[in-house]
Formats: sequence, structure tokens, C-alpha cells
Amino acid sequence: MVVDNADGEVLALECNCIHADNNPLQHAEQVGIRVAMARLHAKRPREVGTPVEQYYKNPLFMAPGTAPEDFINRGCTLYNTFDPCGMCAVTLLVCYMKRIAYLFDNPQFTTVYNDMRQYFRGRESLKEPLALLEDGDDTPLRKGSRLIRVMREKVKHLEESGTPLMTTVDRYRDELQQAAVLLIETEIDHLSTSGEERERNVRTLHGIKRLCNIN
Ligand SMILES: [Zn+2]
Repeated sequence: MVVDNADGEVLALECNCIHADNNPLQHAEQVGIRVAMARLHAKRPREVGTPVEQYYKNPLFMAPGTAPEDFINRGCTLYNTFDPCGMCAVTLLVCYMKRIAYLFDNPQFTTVYNDMRQYFRGRESLKEPLALLEDGDDTPLRKGSRLIRVMREKVKHLEESGTPLMTTVDRYRDELQQAAVLLIETEIDHLSTSGEERERNVRTLHGIKRLCNIN
């Protein structure tokens, strides 16, 4: 999923299409980036006089700023299932993605993004595991965080016992069903943010639900 940090719009929500397309390059990130880019071309078209090289450094997926809040409020964030593979890490650097937040570790590729960043100087980008809410009440967002913690443990355990990482999610029918129910149950009132941040979160929640055909 690619989200415009500036206004919370969900620019793309895509999945791995390797099998559907008989194409080894169709990792979810590759598909998502291209869909999001087409939307950004329409939303923030390149102005006359702006060179393409300048356009993709700002304002496509990137916007300047290295303060912690800049990675939340500016440019775009790609949310993905696994810490990206080598091909996708480089792709994300080439297209100047501001922030990447992933659900599950990918031990095989954990250092690639930061290693490659030295070849792509000047990238004000950040890759980090998705932050979760503290445990507490039984609101859908806290239940969702709890569910992700459980799944992180299971992914780690399966991966360590020899299950190929990309197939571990196939074992989570129950958890994924619970996640779908939580998404359906999550309403605007459950959001804990306020002000502009809340407006963005509302837009993101509506965008996810719309793309998942949830009313
Ligand atoms: Zn990949």
C-alpha cells in the first residue's frame, strides 16, 4: 500500500502478481509503486519548466526534510508485508520513496536498503518496522496490533524452522480472517489522532475500506 503522507490518500493497494502474470518481477512493491506513480502523475503533474530529474526528487514520492515528523507528514509511505527484497529496496531508492514501513522482518535482506543507500546519496528516506499500539483496551486498532504481534512471532518461528518466508503467510488463514473482521469493525471514532493528523487518518481508513470493497 502506498499512502500520500501529505493528505492520507491511499494511492495504491496492490499484491504480489508473480503467478497471475507469469512474471518474476511482479513483487507487490513493484506493482504498487507503478499504480501509485500513475495516480501521482495525475494528482501532482510535472509543471512546465521542471526537469523530470527534479520532479521525481520532489514532489513525486519524496519531499525534503529529515525531522522525525517529516517522514510521517511529507512525501509518501510504502507499507508492505515483508522488509523488501534486494530488487525492491533498490527500486524504492531509485524512485525516492520517503518512508517504508513493513510488518514482518526479512532476515535475508534486512541490511540491503541501508547498504544500498550509500550508492544513492542524498536520499532522505527511512525504512522501519511498522510501529504498533501498546496493549490495552479492546478497540479494533489495539486488537489489530495484538494480532500483528502474534503473527510476527509465528512468522519468525516458521522462518527459523525452514518454511520459506514468502509462504509463511499462507499459514495464517485464521489470523487473516480476524484481521478482515477488525478492518470492517474499525470506524472513524476508533482513531486516537486529532487535528490534521486525524483528517489524514480518516482519509486513509476510507481509502483502505473502499479498495477492499467494505462499505
Ligand atoms: Zn521484492
